[in-house]
Amino acid sequence: MIDQNMKQSVLENFEKVFGKREGIKTYFAPGRVNLIGEHTDYNGGHVFPCALTIGTYAAVAKRDDRVVQFYSVNQDRFGVYGVNLDDIDTINDQAGWTNYPIGVIWAFAGRGMKLDKGFDMVINGNIPNGSGLSSSASLEVLTGFILRDLYGFDVTNQDIALIGQYSENNYNGCNCGIMDQFASAMGKENNAIFLDTADLSYEYAPIKLDGAKIVIANTNKKHKLTDSQYNARRSMCEEALAILQKTVDIKGLGDLSIEEFEAHKDVLTDPDMQKKAKHAVYENQRTIEAVKALKAGDIEHFGELMRQSHESLRDDYDVTGVELDTLAEEAWKIPGVIGSRMTGGGFGGCTVSIVKDEAVEDFKRIVGENYLKKIGYEATFYTVEIGGGPQEI
Ligand code: ADP
Ligand code: MG
Repeated sequence: MIDQNMKQSVLENFEKVFGKREGIKTYFAPGRVNLIGEHTDYNGGHVFPCALTIGTYAAVAKRDDRVVQFYSVNQDRFGVYGVNLDDIDTINDQAGWTNYPIGVIWAFAGRGMKLDKGFDMVINGNIPNGSGLSSSASLEVLTGFILRDLYGFDVTNQDIALIGQYSENNYNGCNCGIMDQFASAMGKENNAIFLDTADLSYEYAPIKLDGAKIVIANTNKKHKLTDSQYNARRSMCEEALAILQKTVDIKGLGDLSIEEFEAHKDVLTDPDMQKKAKHAVYENQRTIEAVKALKAGDIEHFGELMRQSHESLRDDYDVTGVELDTLAEEAWKIPGVIGSRMTGGGFGGCTVSIVKDEAVEDFKRIVGENYLKKIGYEATFYTVEIGGGPQEI
């Protein structure tokens, strides 16, 4: 479901910023929401995200020299940023958001896929940035898809996801797992992706929500310390894994069943570390169970597991905060809410809820009012649809 106004806006802005040109091409790559399986993707566990119909749009045309130039309609105050392809070896703080697409170009070059000539690119997105719906991954996947299309590189959509993750890890300095880029690059309309991050095996699962909708609620929280907190959780899980590996033969925390974890957990003598590992193990098992429930048509049980997921992220993994907790806890009180949980990295960002059609208006109104009362500013609500992967439009 391509938004023609968004397509028009990148084309018009391209002409305004870079002038009239022959052969301008337009593209889209989606954001994503993770239904369950949070902070499992860097622990060799399962995730269950789906691509959304909201995402990032681009208008692009090649240049005759070795310059790449970028402009974002969303961040118009940043203006146009240009750089020579020979000067992108290290991240430049002055380059702002353009470090995402530049990081992808850098990562392609590192795999031997070098650009001969540059390009001009205008983007516009309808994903709220920094809200856990992966606007950054959609921008990376969009860039990778464009590079393949314009320069004829031989990469699959899965490669584009891996290159996007590599650049976010090694260029932009966020140690994210593979989920976000994979969900964007491999998205399929009306399907969620049941992905085992241990070996990247995956399966599409149709989401047939008869009489219910997926509703996202944005905390609108500013000033989160997402990257540092995220990286800290990740290193604690890596430490826990290294300790557990002395007694059990595992490659990731996702290899442990709940029984195995309970039998061996005492080797994790730091109680905080034990809680973090517990979340990774239990959340992985919950995700497997949730997909089974969905396949069996037991959406109520899926919803109950969403709630358990949030509680574990709140009590053990400690990544929610009062804003996300208020949204989820207020949602659980409303009849017709099948399930609700924080989604994405946490500390702010969004919750995802499955809400019966007849309860959607009540959900938005009551959760919205109670959130405002408690937090002092408004949450934003969006009813979303599951969309396809990156495409030329
Ligand atoms: P999330 O991926 O959850 O949206 P991140 O903090 O990982 O949050 O990524 C958000 C960043 O991605 C923005 O701060 C910006 O640098 C970049 N970005 C995403 N979409 C756009 C856009 N349309 N225009 C400019 N920058 C964007
Ligand atoms: Mg991101």
